[in-house]
Amino acid sequence: MQRLPGVGPKTAQRLALHLLKRPETEVIALAQAIMEAKKQIGLCKECFHLSAEPICEICRNPDRDSSTICVVADSRDLIALEKTREYKGKYHVLGGVISPIDGIGPEQLTVQALIQRVSKQKPQEVILAISPSVEGETTTLYLGQLLKPFTKVTRIAFGLPVGGDLEYADELTLARALEGRRELD
Ligand SMILES: [Zn+2]
Repeated sequence: MQRLPGVGPKTAQRLALHLLKRPETEVIALAQAIMEAKKQIGLCKECFHLSAEPICEICRNPDRDSSTICVVADSRDLIALEKTREYKGKYHVLGGVISPIDGIGPEQLTVQALIQRVSKQKPQEVILAISPSVEGETTTLYLGQLLKPFTKVTRIAFGLPVGGDLEYADELTLARALEGRRELD
């Protein structure tokens, strides 16, 4: 339990004790649901968002604007942006941010696929929507340099404090950040 994100020793113990007290059928149902989800959910071949199909719902949706690709660190951030209902374009999920300390370089992320996608699909704009942590900044600047030869590259305007997490920003703040995006120099 303690290996789950955001779960400290106390919560881990509380969860474990709770599960042990529940009827066996309930616990088995939970375990099966987790296994099912793990088996069925993979990554979209196009944008790398979580998906039960080879190509996710957003990529398949003809009403989504293909001329804009919004780059996010992970699916949680994509879901946060979707909740604003402001964005009608497509996405690209990196699978993390560049973090040399953790051994995460561009090769561990979907950077190569992004470059290929952008060079092939030639979108009018790529929006970088990555949390403004030190690693996030590094990733934004790195991607900006790589993508600028192909298209206009913008970054969302954070009214968020540095180190603030995209996922935790409220919908209005995120919508404004998206609206106030500016071109990367
Ligand atoms: Zn997709």
